[in-house]
Amino acid sequence: MIREEKIQIPFNFAAGTSGSRFLTALRDSQVILGAKCNVCTHVTVPLKSFCPSCCSDDLAEMELPAKGRLISWTDCPGRGAFALIQLGDKGPILLHRLIIPPSVMLSELNPGMPVTAHFSDSPKGHISDLQGFVISEK
Ligand SMILES: [Zn+2]
Repeated sequence: MIREEKIQIPFNFAAGTSGSRFLTALRDSQVILGAKCNVCTHVTVPLKSFCPSCCSDDLAEMELPAKGRLISWTDCPGRGAFALIQLGDKGPILLHRLIIPPSVMLSELNPGMPVTAHFSDSPKGHISDLQGFVISEK
């Protein structure tokens, strides 16, 4: 007999220097931090200590726009919708929750629709401090 069970193991997660800066900026300032590579100009989000494109550690921290455009999305029944959001006009792409107002049907979504970051009213230094991106109402 095989029984399927789930166990929960409490643990502490060390976010590292860049991850901590990113989460602190979300919590304290409602700012999305990224980094621009001084070697290849690649912009990345979240903030990292090295460039994922060329591996350089010569990066400049930057605040990214809290507005963007919907690139792609999926609905996970029971868990909500998730989307790829392009920050700003041609900024980096972030995978995060998509908040769809009740007045908007999933079938009405289109690539390029404007979205705005929605931050938690009770931040706690977690990625959920950025609750998601709200699709603009009709
Ligand atoms: Zn680079």
